[in-house]
Amino acid sequence: MGVVNKNFTKLNENYLFSEIAHRVRDFKAANPDAKVISLGIGDVTRPLCPEVIKALHSAVDEMACKETFHGYGPEQGYSFLIEKIIEHDYKSRGIKLQPSEVFISDGAKSDLGNISELFDNGNLVAVTDPVYPVYVDTNVMAGRAGELDENGCWNNIVYLPSTLKNDFVPEIPKECPDIIYLCYPNNPTGTTLSKEALKMWVDYALKNKAIILYDSAYEAFITENDVPHSIYEIKGAEKVAIEFRSFSKTAGFTGLRCGYTVVPKGVVASDSEGNEFQLNHLWNRRQCTKFNGTAYIVQRAAAAIYSQQGQKEIKETVSYYLNNAKILREGLSELGYQVYGGVNAPYIWLKTPEGFGSWEFFDAVLNKCHVVVTPGVGFGPSGEGYVRLTSFGTTEDCVEAIERFKKL
Ligand code: PLP
Repeated sequence: MGVVNKNFTKLNENYLFSEIAHRVRDFKAANPDAKVISLGIGDVTRPLCPEVIKALHSAVDEMACKETFHGYGPEQGYSFLIEKIIEHDYKSRGIKLQPSEVFISDGAKSDLGNISELFDNGNLVAVTDPVYPVYVDTNVMAGRAGELDENGCWNNIVYLPSTLKNDFVPEIPKECPDIIYLCYPNNPTGTTLSKEALKMWVDYALKNKAIILYDSAYEAFITENDVPHSIYEIKGAEKVAIEFRSFSKTAGFTGLRCGYTVVPKGVVASDSEGNEFQLNHLWNRRQCTKFNGTAYIVQRAAAAIYSQQGQKEIKETVSYYLNNAKILREGLSELGYQVYGGVNAPYIWLKTPEGFGSWEFFDAVLNKCHVVVTPGVGFGPSGEGYVRLTSFGTTEDCVEAIERFKKL
């Protein structure tokens, strides 16, 4: 009989979202006439923009013709897309990248999960808390997380609390992590790091030879001038950081699937004998072995967002979601709630009122307002006492949700 990877058996089923679904199902069964509004959705709801649709149609037509058909493409992605990314997302901010430092993929989640394969299990991993669960779970699968303790923490992972107490800016821990996951703008808190705060982490990594895995899936939502769009805006980051980006929230590609990962050639890690290896080389080797490239038509669609018209169209959609975030943020703070995020991110992080834990507030909002939010504790122990609201629904629903919150 085959023997399973024991690390997989340590993971629970996704308790958070199955428990939410369960409670919403029970509520609907008991209240069949209630119109439930979901502010829990982490998926976009607006359709792809016309420029992307045009590019998709034209790429499909190319596939129908012997002369323009595309079979396997380069595992690293087509240069027509890589060049646009470098020009638009980096060069415009004074960041120099070589085409071989950018890897196109089917989305940030896969890359964020797969990157862990490059690292030995002896590395100490740090995550901010609360956190996008993929970073933790993929390290559990790899066998690097240790065991789950009674507080819901893995005993071999360093948790960096990001709460009101520290203005959602994680502090350098007393342990010495080798790999640090940072995500800004942040899911779930919707907060950002200033250049100064990010520099503190880059300097830490430079000094301690640590690697930063920087997830900037929500970069397109940044509206404030002093918020860094890329970690490479910080001097020295090109020696210690890998950056993950996604077209999912930037351009509505959650169902189309495309993202990219930047692995600068200056980022190195050593083996147990002290020999240094370029992570760019290892990642290229990994991708060439296990990944056969993102679909040609999808890469053509992604390239279309960089035209003048494409930029205009995707920005309109991002503005629509940011306007929803504003309605929620302002409406809730007028009602006296403490709310964070929502200015440079599609997420609002709400401090639950005195006496309400995350789940108690979830139940109160569902039962009294017929609105679904996400309990913050589902993102990690420091999320207790908060809930997350997303702005990916319709404006009408956001306005209506605020009206209903007045009943609470
Ligand atoms: N990173 C963060 C922080 C996310 O919230 C998400 C999706 O919700 C992803 C990455 C995944 O992005 P993709 O759709 O490109 O896999």
